[in-house]
Parts: sequence; C-alpha cells; structure tokens
Amino acid sequence: MTTATMMDVPLTIELVLDRAERWMSASEVVSRRPDKSLHRTTYGAVAQRARKLARALVVAGIQRGERVATLMWNHAEHLEAYLGIPLAGAVTHTLNLRLHPDEIAFIANDARDRFLIVDDVLLPLYDKIVAAGASFERVFVVGASGKHESYEELLATAPPELTAGSSASISLAQLPDLAETDALGVCYTSGTTGKPKGVVYSHRSTILHSLVAALPDALDLARADTLLPVVPMFHVNAWGLPFVAAMTGAKIVFPGPHLDPPSLLDLLAAEKVTVAAGVPTIWLGIREQLDANPGKWQLQPGLRMIVGGSAAPEQLIRDFDRLGLTLLHAWGMTETSPIGLVSRVPPHLAGADEATRYKLRAKQGTPPPLVDVRVRNWQGDVPADDKTNGELLVRGPWVARQYAGGHTPDRWTKDGWFRTGDVARVDEHGFVQLTDRVADMIKSGGEWICSQEVENHLMGHPAVREAAVIGVPHPKWSERPIATVVLRPGAQASADELRAHVGAKFAKFWIPDTIVFVDAIPRTSAGKFKKTELRETYRDHFKDEP
Ligand code: ADP
Repeated sequence: MTTATMMDVPLTIELVLDRAERWMSASEVVSRRPDKSLHRTTYGAVAQRARKLARALVVAGIQRGERVATLMWNHAEHLEAYLGIPLAGAVTHTLNLRLHPDEIAFIANDARDRFLIVDDVLLPLYDKIVAAGASFERVFVVGASGKHESYEELLATAPPELTAGSSASISLAQLPDLAETDALGVCYTSGTTGKPKGVVYSHRSTILHSLVAALPDALDLARADTLLPVVPMFHVNAWGLPFVAAMTGAKIVFPGPHLDPPSLLDLLAAEKVTVAAGVPTIWLGIREQLDANPGKWQLQPGLRMIVGGSAAPEQLIRDFDRLGLTLLHAWGMTETSPIGLVSRVPPHLAGADEATRYKLRAKQGTPPPLVDVRVRNWQGDVPADDKTNGELLVRGPWVARQYAGGHTPDRWTKDGWFRTGDVARVDEHGFVQLTDRVADMIKSGGEWICSQEVENHLMGHPAVREAAVIGVPHPKWSERPIATVVLRPGAQASADELRAHVGAKFAKFWIPDTIVFVDAIPRTSAGKFKKTELRETYRDHFKDEP
C-alpha cells in the first residue's frame, strides 16, 4: 500500500490573507465614499487591519463559530471584515440592507449575531432594525460613530499578535488554529420564493470557490485586472469576488452606496476597470446611458461585465458587443457560493454563425471544474439535446449540503444533489438553459408555460426594455399568463404587436392574454422581478372571465 506524501495544508482564509499581505501588498483597493471622494489603500494595509480586527475581536471575547454581522456597503472596511472576522475563528454574517427592517431583524436573530459592524450612513436603518427586535451585544460604527463605539477604536484595542518570540509582559491575542471545515460566513437566501434560510460557507468551500472562479474559463480574473463588484457584498458575498480579488491580487474598486448608472460609469472610466459584475438591471441602465451619451465615458476596451442573478437577455449581450464591451453570463445561487454555471462559447464553436453564438451566450452555460449539474424530471435524467425540461440539480465542494438549522431537507435528493428549484434543459452542446423557476411556471389548461422563456423572448423585441410574465388565476384555464412590459425610452409597440412576436416563437396558448405597459417592474432586494407582488396585483384580473 502506498501512502500519499503530500503536506496537508488546511485551506483557510489565513492563506488568502497571508498572500495579500506578503505578495500582493502593493495592489490597490479603492473605495468611493458616500460623499463620492475616493479612498485609496492597498492589500498590504487592508490585510494588516484585518489582522488587527481579528485580534481585537478575540480580545473582545468573540468565540469560535460566533457570528459578527455587517451592515455595510461595498468598501475597504467591508473587505477587512471579510478577511478579519473569519481569521478570529468567527463567522461573518452580511446583512442585506435592502430587506425590510423586520426581515433583517428576523435574520439577525435567527443567526444569533453577537456583534455588528455598521456604516455611519446606515445608522438610521440600524435604529429600525433594533426597533424591529434585533439586538447586538456591541455595535461598531465605520465613520462618524455618534453615541456608538467606533470601528477605528475597536481596531486600536488590538494587542500585538502572539508569536514564538513575543514578550510575555504585554497582553497578547491568541488567534485560534483554524480548521478548513470551520464556518467562515453565513448568507441568507433572499427569500424570492420562500422564507430566508441560512447557508453557512466553510473556509475550504470559500478557498476552492475562489480558486476556480478565477480560472480563465470561469470568471477569468488575474492580478493585471481591475475589478469593480457592483453586486453588493451583502448578496452572496458579492459572488465571492472580494475573496477572488484578494487571492489573485487584482486591483479592486468598491462603489460604495452610489449605484446609479452615471455614477458607476464615472468610476468604471476613472479607475480603468477591466472586469465588473452585477445583475441585468445594472447593465440595462448602463446601456441606456451609453446610448444616450455617446463618447461621454472612455471605458477600457473589451471591459468584461459578469452578469447573473437573473437571465441576461440576448439583446443586451448583442448591444454591449456593439459598444465594444463583453457580457459574460453566469448562473448561481446563495446555496452554490454562487458560481455554478458559466456561459462561454467553446473553441470548436467559435466559428459557428452569429445567431448560434449569441444563443449560447444567453444560456446559463456549463459548470466550472469540481461542480457537477444534471437535469432530472419524473422520467429520470434528461439527456442532452432532449427538448424536455427538468429540475436543475447541482453538487460540488461549494454547494450547501443543508441549511442552517436543517430547514427544508427535501431540497436535497436522496443521492446527494441539491435541488435548485430552477427548471432547465440541456442543448446538443451540453449547455444548460434555464427556462423558469418551478414556483413561477404557469399551468394553463393542464399544460405548462415557462414564464421566463416568454419574458426573455419579449425582451428580444427591439421596443422592449424589460418584461415579466406571471400566471394569474383563471376560471376556465386554471391560470393564464399576463405580461408586464417596460418599453425602451422613446420606443413604441402595441400589445397586439408584442403578442404576435410571442406567437411567432411559441404555441398559441403561451401568448399572454393581457400585456400591461408599466413604468417599472417591482424588484426584490437582489434586483429580480418580484413576481409574488405582481401575482398579488393582478390576482383578480380574470375573475369575471367566462
Ligand atoms: P433567490 O432565490 O432569493 O433569488 P438567490 O439570490 O440565491 O436567491 O438566487 C438564485 C436564483 O437566481 C437561481 O435559483 C435562479 O433562479 C436565479 N438566477 C441566478 N442566476 C441566473 C441566471 N444567469 N439566469 C437565470 N436565473 C438566474
């Protein structure tokens, strides 16, 4: 019997921090403050402050596995928290500031958060969360702390690190020895389709996710890049990108609270950003600004924009190509850390016709290394190039094996796969295409309609900016689809024209009975269509139909 002779190095945040501090120390970390001034620091300085934070937390009595919450925008101090809290053996709980205060309080209590680090500009929200029943033992404020403790004072309490040569006469902080299976962070699902549930990432899952996310065929991040995560650090850890950046040494640019398209474009241009990441609505807004103000912003040629969270309309991908910018479509979930699928046209199809290439790029794609997916329905696994739909199942080292507290165990199959709740099919090239969420599918006259397919097709119409399709109770058909549509600025289209557009691609019964033109579609905290609210609004629409 031969025994492996390799070192067993625990995959912990310490490795990322050490690397950022020693080998990437000069890489820049830029944060735009609420007053729009730019704060510049380096990975070296961030890493040192993260170490101080860890030591200060240990001295403050935080125990291994306890939660330290953050209520913060994207900025350098939030990165310090990402690195420093787990270094102390504690668990970072990023609170989603876009949720209702009652919901944030529920989540903070459910996670039993002990300490909180909060931005001064978010103190009014903090007060509401406390009024809604949340309580934190200690609260540290980044910025003007007022009556609270200040984050800078917390850092100042950090004693020197205990090392082999330390003098015994000063008070020292002993950081715990981390195991790679220790909890590092917790995120709650944003509850688009159900009650929020906690997903607890380990050091190991985070390190492996970061390594693979950086690969050229995944998100492709390198030290030479400048990354701007528009996606908030309180939503699935900004897709894990702050960890990827710290690991690769890519310069990182944090946008702070100003996320309107002109403010983002100013920052993309000024900091020469090469990679940005955000949900489709962000890029819709950016496209409109670029179209309306040609030549105003000098963006880096070939700027890559990672898009996910909801489906990227094919038209958006085409429009950005026209502007010399590249959208990269990816799929993921809170439960999958999140990278689960990335859509890149493989080399053997690079010469395919334009229509085929755009169709592929608008699909969700194929899994990166170490992740496996399959599509399964009541008949079993759906083979590639089969036109039937099934539920997308996923497994891998950064996929949750359960929710905190063991809620809804039926989301996992008996043979160890996570059931995503997404409906998908696989094309002849092995590309996964999401067609809907199980909860959003529409049952009409005993047949299923995929709402997402209809809305994606509607968004391919030149006059349509956004479209959301929902099923509404109908006395005869059980449910019928309604589409809410936002037109592009200055564009015109009639309901009949849009219905004909849908009819040109899908069976007649898929055509929405009603098309409602609206100024905006309600959205969730993560920028997705809020279909629960839409269904409520139009609940009685067909009540009096024969
Ligand atoms: P929530 O369930 O509250 O939306 P997440 O933020 O974890 O929680 O979102 C995961 C879901 O977002 C996926 O299950 C899927 O429905 C949707 N999603 C994510 N990326 C994409 C994408 N590229 N295309 C379509 N849907 C996506």
